[in-house]
Amino acid sequence: MTTIADRSAADLADLHARARDAYEAFKARGLKLDMTRGKPSPEQLDLAAGMLGLAGNGDYVTQAGEDARNYGGQQGIAEVRALFTHLLDAPADQIVVGDNSSLAMMHDSIAWALLTGVPGSAKPWSKESDIAFLCPVPGYDRHFALCEAYGIRMIPVPMTGHGPDMDVVEAAVADPAVRGLWCVPKYSNPSGETYSDETVRRLAAMKTAAPDFRLFWDNAYAVHHLTPERVAVANILTLCAEAGNPDRAFVFASTSKITLAGAGLAFFASSPDNVRWYLARASKRTIGPDKLNQLRHVRFLRDGAGLDAHMDAHRALLAPKFAAVEEALSRHLAGTGAAKWTKPDGGYFITVEARDGTATEVVRLAKEAGLALTPAGATSPYGRDPRDSVLRLAPSYPSLKDVTAAAEGIAVCILLASVEAERRVRERNA
Ligand code: PMP
Repeated sequence: MTTIADRSAADLADLHARARDAYEAFKARGLKLDMTRGKPSPEQLDLAAGMLGLAGNGDYVTQAGEDARNYGGQQGIAEVRALFTHLLDAPADQIVVGDNSSLAMMHDSIAWALLTGVPGSAKPWSKESDIAFLCPVPGYDRHFALCEAYGIRMIPVPMTGHGPDMDVVEAAVADPAVRGLWCVPKYSNPSGETYSDETVRRLAAMKTAAPDFRLFWDNAYAVHHLTPERVAVANILTLCAEAGNPDRAFVFASTSKITLAGAGLAFFASSPDNVRWYLARASKRTIGPDKLNQLRHVRFLRDGAGLDAHMDAHRALLAPKFAAVEEALSRHLAGTGAAKWTKPDGGYFITVEARDGTATEVVRLAKEAGLALTPAGATSPYGRDPRDSVLRLAPSYPSLKDVTAAAEGIAVCILLASVEAERRVRERNA
């Protein structure tokens, strides 16, 4: 197919008319579709239905003989930490089990760093005149919102397809104001990319001006594969320790997209010193986490093989939705030059790079046609995408039928916005 830019005026007018017709036809269907957030679907939540009845009928005693109904157990039940070593790539004694949200554990880590500093800090971060975090772009909007809420300056870093651009990162950490880097190392939100061994090794070994610099290693999609291949990432805690930076990484994960998004388990894993630091503060905040939910998880998933089998069931529900989006984007947009998009091997998102200057317009067109998309700019710090091109698609929640319909609508909106942008450019240059 001839790209939009290479079309003759007549060909472009023809494509415009067809894109308009397709858009009006989509709008006329009067659908109400939502592709904004990476939530598991009801069918995915149903996969964990058997968990809800567990740890009942007197079954609340841990392997160590503790009564899980009572206070205490700050670090989490030993057999639960053992089960999730696989997820966190850390030994059980370096894992803390929180309540349901890893984002809450990230929030607390940042709040405590601001209030008290972390191991290696000369003073609390809030007493510094300037604190900055490196933010890979496109990235997770809630990471950015957390920095914004607490006045942490955000420095965008481009992604490369195998993690953040390490030349940019290594140059930036020469500034002592830079205290952190957000990382989603596997099936990144939203680009879907996985950090290469080389990226992980450089992150572990790089020289940072701040002695208390931390990698916020948010492994939210550690076991969330969309293909039979279970992609692996190099072990960040081991590599940091080997490079002489044992306290560099705060690792986070959760079962939000394994069992129940609102009632799973969250985890923090790090060096022994960082784990002591975390627990000392956590113990001021709570007399102990929800250990019945911990037992529920270990009774339900049982072991690594149980976890893998459960994730295979998620994959069976998710993979066709991703395929439906891919099919519609390819059918409408391949060869037009209107967009590039990712084909992720895992995670929850497809990232579309539409023509520069059209993402906001695509979201507006979609909204008018009854289709809610994540606001343009959401994947950049401060919500500002300087090129106005990135769109994040979240196909997990709607039914396959709705995802298929939505994908059609998205492709048509992208095409229409791109053709109209091209026509405007030509009119201006005429
Ligand atoms: N980190 C990333 C990268 C995510 O995409 C999400 C969920 N969208 C979260 C964290 C939220 O995790 P939790 O449910 O454990 O708070």
